[in-house]
Amino acid sequence: MSKSDLGDGTRCVRGGHPEPVSGTPMLPGPVFAAPFHLGEDFQGGDFYGRAGNPTWRALEAAIGELDGGHCLLLPSGMAAISTVLRALLRRGDALVLPSDGYYATRQFVRDELTELELDVREIGTPGPWTDDVFAGARLVLLETPSNPGLDVCDIAELAERAHRAGALLAVDNTTATPLGQRPLELGADIVIASDTKALAGHSDLLMGHVSVRDPELAERLVRARTLSGSIPGPFETWLVHRSMGTLDLRLARQAENAAALVAALRGHPAISGLRWPGAPDDPSHDLARRQMRRWGGVFRFELADAAAVDEFVRRSELVVAATSFGGLHSTVDRRAQWGDPVPEGFVRFSAGCEDPDDLVADVLQALS
Ligand SMILES: *Cc1c(COP(=O)(O)O)cnc(C)c1O
Repeated sequence: MSKSDLGDGTRCVRGGHPEPVSGTPMLPGPVFAAPFHLGEDFQGGDFYGRAGNPTWRALEAAIGELDGGHCLLLPSGMAAISTVLRALLRRGDALVLPSDGYYATRQFVRDELTELELDVREIGTPGPWTDDVFAGARLVLLETPSNPGLDVCDIAELAERAHRAGALLAVDNTTATPLGQRPLELGADIVIASDTKALAGHSDLLMGHVSVRDPELAERLVRARTLSGSIPGPFETWLVHRSMGTLDLRLARQAENAAALVAALRGHPAISGLRWPGAPDDPSHDLARRQMRRWGGVFRFELADAAAVDEFVRRSELVVAATSFGGLHSTVDRRAQWGDPVPEGFVRFSAGCEDPDDLVADVLQALS
């Protein structure tokens, strides 16, 4: 049986763990070394913790296997995004960004890459994807499903068009996770993710990664990581690896909860703009079903205004306000407070791993 024939649960539980050797730990702990012993005649291997260590490699093997590429860890999702943009972009390059995606990506480009004088083209995830968007572009970054709007775009089609225009195509895959979607298999060159969200999934650490198909690009990014010093700590890395063992289970429960909540909220008088790509009547559903492997627990809707969202959180006993998603605990985030271009009452809901009946009852009473 080849590794890619294994199911999601098996791959999450087994990925990146060592072959069993009698007398060694079943699961290795984190390696904290700054310097490693060089001995008298150093022949390669680990030498300094900023360049590499076995704890990173174990998790990189596990995630890279799911993504279908060479994975490198970075200490947060933004570290992953900024490392890719700084490594690939040159002065005057054209860069395509989602206008409705993660706000800090646009802010980073606007505030931190000013010296590059980029031609930045911000396009909404649903398009319009006209030819002039791609013309002369160096890099096209997609985010699908987009955060927070949960719109979807066609990765395979846009990758082909980006390549025809001579551009590289990257996908921010945070919302989907590597179980939900494999952009590299759909033709993307680069997949970027914040593993702070569902992949780690316990709301207690930050982590990010980049996976690429081209080994030369992987080497280029590893060099950028080593020289910038933007590296994750071994303990956080080890915790992410431990957490990833239950990703399949957690995603399954989160998607079950999202489906139950979306069904219960459909047509509710207090709610508008309910969107979840997993819902058969969602405008993105057919495309999402073609390119995604399974659903996650994040959906969105609108209440009347900011006060209605505050009232909802106050009345709920299971849902708390917090600005992240994909964790064990159900959370809501009113996105307008962070500057997203959405209405004041727009809520991104992250279904956690509570019981579906409890969540539905609690959310309905909090809205009544
Ligand atoms: C959270 C998020 C990021 C940033 O990740 P951090 O780990 O917070 O740095 C990037 N992209 C998307 C889509 C996100 O949701």
